[in-house]
Amino acid sequence: MTTIEEIHIPGFEKVLEVQNPSVGLHAFIALHNTTLGPGLGGTRIFPYATKEQALTDVLRLAQGMTSKSAITKVGYGGAKAVIIGDHRKIKTPALFKAYGEVLNSLKGQYITAEDVGTTTDDVSELLKTTPYVVGLPLELGGGGDPSPFTAWGVYRGIEAVCTALFGSPNLAGKRIAIQGLGKVGSILAGFLFWSGAKLFVADPDEKVLDHFAKLYSAEKVSTDDIHKVACDIYAPCALGGILNDKTIPELRCKGVAGCANNQLLTEQHALVLQEKDILYAPDYVINAGGLINVSFELLPQGYDSAISRNLVNDIGETLNYLFKESAEKKITPLEASIRLTKEYLDKKIGQRKEPPRFRK
Ligand code: NAD
Repeated sequence: MTTIEEIHIPGFEKVLEVQNPSVGLHAFIALHNTTLGPGLGGTRIFPYATKEQALTDVLRLAQGMTSKSAITKVGYGGAKAVIIGDHRKIKTPALFKAYGEVLNSLKGQYITAEDVGTTTDDVSELLKTTPYVVGLPLELGGGGDPSPFTAWGVYRGIEAVCTALFGSPNLAGKRIAIQGLGKVGSILAGFLFWSGAKLFVADPDEKVLDHFAKLYSAEKVSTDDIHKVACDIYAPCALGGILNDKTIPELRCKGVAGCANNQLLTEQHALVLQEKDILYAPDYVINAGGLINVSFELLPQGYDSAISRNLVNDIGETLNYLFKESAEKKITPLEASIRLTKEYLDKKIGQRKEPPRFRK
């Protein structure tokens, strides 16, 4: 039997702890802010050491989704879920069925998608139980894995950072260090290779590292040292918290622009980066391509990749604007994006549209 316990967390609309030991399900679902529409955010499966760590992560991630949805104006709210466990071991049809039933009980307040530890196959499995899921394969009416859209948005963001730093988006000859060659990092590496950048790459998976280093003439670097590479852009594309008191003093880049969520350990670290003269592209702005793509799966006329592409291209423009604001108002780009997000959310209070059409 599945139990759902509501936890009161100030600043959040709803936080649930979900447990069903018989299928190995222990999850947290956080609805942060649904001013703009139903909460949309992926479900992460990760072997958190404690349930407190899982809760902290889901809260930070859900909050980030509110900002991401607001800055992209896709008409959704901020939410996220985490399931505790090793994704290579715990995924079963029974677990997804129990989890899907919990999503049904929320009646569309929360729509999920894939995230770290979950794939298009997993969201397809969830669709057998619940319609409140996106990031589905093309053959099931979805837009497929959102990672290529995320990677393209990051690429456009790197161009924006280079424009702000060097006066041109041209990446030929630029030295770029990519931390993590997973679903997004590996595609980003391809885009950068073809633009003529010199790449430095790191990933704990030796096979993956060898493959992409060879494919893109990239220099292999250890996972401990990738952030220390002397380069133009450091692109964190693995897990969060990577910009902290220990790593920032070791950075030798001019800009930070990558896809990882929650790159800053705390908001204060945006200021530390600025003091070190490093231009930081706020993570939830630069990595919004995947959210943009999945959000268009529920359009009444059906999914259209060209609509997604056009909005993902705008990520570069949004960053150009934030960097200009940051320079003019002498604030960090993060502060500029916080102000922009808040302005938009405040304007939209009470104007929420009807939830989008759901699959039958
Ligand atoms: P992924 O799991 O496919 O890739 C992560 C990669 O990082 C893996 O190859 C892993 O081996 C590697 N890695 C782990 N620890 C590392 C370390 N210490 N140093 C270097 N590499 C390390 O995940 P993904 O989908 O590519 O997402 C990467 C990040 O981007 C995550 O933070 C995710 O939340 C964020 N993100 C992803 C998307 C998307 O569309 N996939 C969208 C927005 C944000």
